This record gives sequence, C-alpha cells and structure tokens, in this order.
Amino acid sequence: MIIGVTGGIASGKSTVARAFAALGAPWVDADDVAREVVEPGEPALEEIADRYSRAKESPVLNDDGTLNRRALREIVFADPAERRWLESVTHPRIRTRLLEHLARLEAEGAPYVLLVSPLLFESGQSKMTDRTLVIDVPEALQIERTAARDDVDEAQARAIVAAQMPRAERLARADDVLDNGGSEEAMRRRVSELDRRYRQLTSHRPETC
Ligand code: ADP
Repeated sequence: MIIGVTGGIASGKSTVARAFAALGAPWVDADDVAREVVEPGEPALEEIADRYSRAKESPVLNDDGTLNRRALREIVFADPAERRWLESVTHPRIRTRLLEHLARLEAEGAPYVLLVSPLLFESGQSKMTDRTLVIDVPEALQIERTAARDDVDEAQARAIVAAQMPRAERLARADDVLDNGGSEEAMRRRVSELDRRYRQLTSHRPETC
C-alpha cells in the first residue's frame, strides 16, 4: 500500500515522514528521485543536453557534466512548450524510478510505504498511491516556519505560499489529514494513530497476484 504524503512548504512533510519511519514505515522522496533521473549517465540528462547543446551562452551542463539547473529553469520558464517537452522526458522516468524504490521497500518487508511529494496532486503522482495524506498547517504558521528554517524573509515566504496550491483545494483532495499546527508531540500521536489505521487497512487488503 502506497500512502501519498503532501502539503505546502514547511507544512512538516519531512518531519512527519521521519515519525512514520520511526514506527517502521519508510518513505521515498519524489524530489530526490526527480534529481536522480537527471544525474550524469542518465538517459534523461543526455536528451536534455542534446536538445539544448546549441544554447552556448547559457550551457545546460556544468563543466563537471552535472545539470545546470538554473540554466534549464530559465529555458522552461520562458517557454511553456519547452516545459512540456522537459516533463515528457522526465516524468515517465521519475514515475518508473519511484515505483521501483517503493516496490523495493515493500519487498524488504515494509508494512506500507510513503511517497512524499510536494507536488503530489499537481504532478499526477497521487494516481500512483492508494491513499493521500495531507499535512495541514494554518498559513501564518507555514510562513513563520518557512522563514525560520530557510534563508528567506516573511514576504518571500508569503509569496512562496501564495504560489502553491490553495490550502482548501489540497484539503478537498485528501483522504486523510494531519493537522500539524500543534506540538511535535501532538504530531507524533496523530502519526501513531494513522500508522495503526494503515496497518489495519493493509492487513484487510485482498491479496493480489
Ligand atoms: P516540509 O518538509 O513540509 O517542507 P519540514 O518537515 O521541514 O517541512 O518542517 C518545516 C519546519 O517546521 C522544520 O524546521 C521543522 O522542524 C518544523 N516543524 C515541523 N513540524 C513541527 C511541529 N509540529 N512543531 C514545531 N515545529 C515543527
């Protein structure tokens, strides 16, 4: 069983994932996998390098052969068609790799696994999951925690939050919600509760072959 975990910036996705892992349910981070598929030697990076090799003034590869993310970001920000092309190259590979990682964790004996993704709904990755868990915090607290954790001021944190999926929309799509507006202790209690429920659900699932 795959539980998709999402939430806005600094809602507590990583903190919650660690709390589940402490109870025995591991996670795969979609952002890590998105970086993995464009590492040197990966076919997606070769395709990107081939397509943009003419952009000499702003090469998409660094001298050491790694992806120049800033250069690529500038290209796709300026042109929606290029963005779609990039997604057509990376998304299927991210999906395959995510499923491989998740299957490996399940084969290693995990009772269920978490797919942690900031863009779970926007990217369509929620379709790979059996249930979705939204980590929810009031926006004011989200802004406060972003500014405290990252090197951004309150206005920048506010702008990042405003650019993300609205809280109400995310909540409307959730199967389960974890209110992370309280203490870490309260968060851990809710994680235990959800863990019990997920274990129960997996034990009642029909065997597939
Ligand atoms: P995300 O992965 O969603 O961006 P994090 O898990 O990194 O969010 O949490 C953002 C910040 O908020 C971190 O500094 C984390 O320690 C803190 N945090 C998370 N949950 C709580 C909580 N319940 N109480 C206090 N601080 C929290």
